[in-house]
Amino acid sequence: MDTYPRLQCVRCNYSEPFTRPLERCPQCDGDWLDVVYDYPRVARIWQRELPRRPQTMWRYRELLPLRDDVHRLSLGEGGTPLLRASNLAMMLGCSGLYIKDERQGPTGSFKDRQAALAISVMKELGVTEAVLASTGNVAISYAAYSALAGIKIWAFLTSLVPAEKMREVAIYGAKVVKVTGTYDQTKQVAAEFAKRRGLYLDRGIRSIAARESMKTVAFEIAEQLAGYLGPGATPWRAPDWYIQSVSGGLGPVGVWKGFEELLRMGLIDHMPRLACIQAEGCAPMVHSFAKGLEKAEPVLHPRTRIITVATGDPGPAYTFLARVIRQHGGAFEAVSDEDAFRAIHVLAKLEGISMEPAAGIAFAGLFKLLSQGVIRRDEVVVVNCSGHTFPVEKHLLGEDWVQTVEAPARAPAPEEGLLGSLESLGRDVRRVAILEDDPGARRLLRRILQARGPYQIFEAENGREGLELIRRERPDLILLDLMMPEIDGFGVLEVLQSEEELQEIPVIVVTAKELTADERARLSGHIQALLQKGVFTDDELLREIGEAIEE
Ligand SMILES: *Cc1c(COP(=O)(O)O)cnc(C)c1O
Ligand SMILES: [Zn+2]
Repeated sequence: MDTYPRLQCVRCNYSEPFTRPLERCPQCDGDWLDVVYDYPRVARIWQRELPRRPQTMWRYRELLPLRDDVHRLSLGEGGTPLLRASNLAMMLGCSGLYIKDERQGPTGSFKDRQAALAISVMKELGVTEAVLASTGNVAISYAAYSALAGIKIWAFLTSLVPAEKMREVAIYGAKVVKVTGTYDQTKQVAAEFAKRRGLYLDRGIRSIAARESMKTVAFEIAEQLAGYLGPGATPWRAPDWYIQSVSGGLGPVGVWKGFEELLRMGLIDHMPRLACIQAEGCAPMVHSFAKGLEKAEPVLHPRTRIITVATGDPGPAYTFLARVIRQHGGAFEAVSDEDAFRAIHVLAKLEGISMEPAAGIAFAGLFKLLSQGVIRRDEVVVVNCSGHTFPVEKHLLGEDWVQTVEAPARAPAPEEGLLGSLESLGRDVRRVAILEDDPGARRLLRRILQARGPYQIFEAENGREGLELIRRERPDLILLDLMMPEIDGFGVLEVLQSEEELQEIPVIVVTAKELTADERARLSGHIQALLQKGVFTDDELLREIGEAIEE
């Protein structure tokens, strides 16, 4: 009988009981070894015990490769909330949009899962001094956990990492070494240093502990989604999409394995599709996939200000992810730094979530894939909000963020869109009536208006009340939903048209409904603008909203 967990070589299938974290396969010298577990047994234990376990990543202990619990280090990692992004979903016309809020880890990024497990394993191995290369967050997190473990860390960082992050690494007592060069060069320097000094080198994506730790993101998402969506055919729920901003690819590789294990245990009934989003200036995966390559073509000179994700050579992670996406669907996509910054503003203003630029990339990717129709609006989407921005990095705000003197000249207002429409109405609109039965949509419209100026806002939740309100208050503008109880939007419009005193009040229709040609004809000539909730993904419009809410 096989003993579990077992180590298994991905290349030649060699396997042995997991008693030592081998770096290379004794049979074929391959450097990618995986751990397999006794899944039926784990499923039984989880069914019995999971409800009683605390919300940290260690609740999935049986599928984590630490041999003895006495070596476990914890700062409260994992167990981050899955937030329902209702305002954003409303704006984008999506039905199920969720944010895995990894900012809420102990050092503010999802690297805390990796550090908690990897440093625990180092402790178990008796390591007292270790070397790593990082684009920032791994170093911060490893520094914190190694402080707990009493392990000395040499953190090699590219000189492009923001000074704030470097200081954060240093405060935990790690040795910070700044390398003038790219991240890939920094990795080489770190490896050389470890070799010369005979020190333990963190192996990044090739580290078993690092990959296994990321499975817990998948476990939590599936458990939390079931909480939102109710039980399906299986106890837990997989989303249709998992979106992450990707650098070395450790996250999606680990998350994919996590979902695979859940599927094997019968806890979910399908695999999600992966969307790996990269910064345009450093997108080796995106370009290699577009060329149909098996192996990634490295980017030698990354051109992005978002250093967290500036891995030029993703190595085996790309090969793995490209195969997954080829077989199961999914996407590699690139976005510009500016797209990411814009997404950050939108998320901060709409959802109260402030994130670092690397995480903004994932949201910019969401907007892009939605507008391309790659992701459908009725699909359940989870975006990993992978890291927090504290303190706010300077370039995010620009030089003069505190002395805004002159408003920049605006582009002509777009045809569609609430802000564009308001713009074209001029400055004297001050009293706005919102007729909308969905409280969430009302709240979003109110929020956009309030953020933009001192509007006086009146609200009604059906057509009949709306008409009473309009007769009483005589607003300067009406925002009208089409599908409402009692009297619908078309009915309201007809009444407005038939009454002389009300005829002249401009109306903007805001609707999620796909209009038929006949319905469009009924509206035409009677309304100021038609705002389809779905078209908000339009890049131009997102920027307008971002800017407007900023004011
Ligand atoms: C590391 C990191 C990423 C990229 O993750 P990978 O899975 O390693 O590609 C994205 N966002 C943040 C905040 C990170 O720290
Ligand atoms: Zn092998």
